[in-house]
Amino acid sequence: MVATTTEDVFVPFNFVLFCAIVAATIIGIPLYGYYYGFSLFDWILSFVMYIVTGMGITVGYHRLVSHQSFECPNWVKACILVAGGWALQNSALKWGGDHIRHHAKTDQEEDPYNVTKGFWHSHCGWLFYNTPHRTEKYEIRLRRDPIVMWQHRYYWPIVVTGLLLPFVLGVWHDGWQGGIGAFLLGGLFRMFMVLNSTFTINSLCHMVGTQPHGTQDSSRDSWLISFVSFGEGYHNFHHTYARDFRNGPKWYNFDPSKWIIYTLWLFGFARNLRRNDPTVG
Ligand SMILES: [Zn+2]
Ligand SMILES: [Zn+2]
Repeated sequence: MVATTTEDVFVPFNFVLFCAIVAATIIGIPLYGYYYGFSLFDWILSFVMYIVTGMGITVGYHRLVSHQSFECPNWVKACILVAGGWALQNSALKWGGDHIRHHAKTDQEEDPYNVTKGFWHSHCGWLFYNTPHRTEKYEIRLRRDPIVMWQHRYYWPIVVTGLLLPFVLGVWHDGWQGGIGAFLLGGLFRMFMVLNSTFTINSLCHMVGTQPHGTQDSSRDSWLISFVSFGEGYHNFHHTYARDFRNGPKWYNFDPSKWIIYTLWLFGFARNLRRNDPTVG
């Protein structure tokens, strides 16, 4: 029987995939490390890929695609969206559609990561259900972007290349065993870490912190969360001035995503950086 669209529909694929990554990270990887060990190369590769794929989400999926906070040439956009695809967070089209809906309907039934339903729902529980509100209306602008549509079409091949890359580099560095170690840390472990980094913004940044820019919704500023989310912890500022390319507006706010966008601008790879907050420079 075909499920109706009036109720949330459980998505077993997402649930099984998520459980597999969690099991690999908290059981498989420590066991492998205990018996075979990880090399410094594996740890460095994992850290570099954590940064690259995390920034693919914050700079690419979030600030570029969802909020149009700056513009860049198509080849730069394609590179950033490939890095974002490696994070296993759906295509930029789907991610952006969900995120635009989050800003439009924050704390309401239609908010995909509605924090009023509790920590686990807003953190990762929402992923396991297709809601009746998941309409295409929030994707209309995104569907006009050929690079976004290209990335959507090739999303799964992109995900696979993000797992193959550390494996191939590991084999090159230290043979087959080196490949397995690099795949586990540079592929699965960093995926788990970046996923939780993003989840934290949807959960804790709507629960913990201050609201210096407005109390219109549950969004909060937390400098501490910025350290694990590439600068996205200033979430109250972000909800108030969503199109600003900065999430931490002051120069001393820890916001590496803003610094990357600014650096791209310095080298001519980005333009029209938007600042919406009239009170800070
Ligand atoms: Zn939010
Ligand atoms: Zn946003």
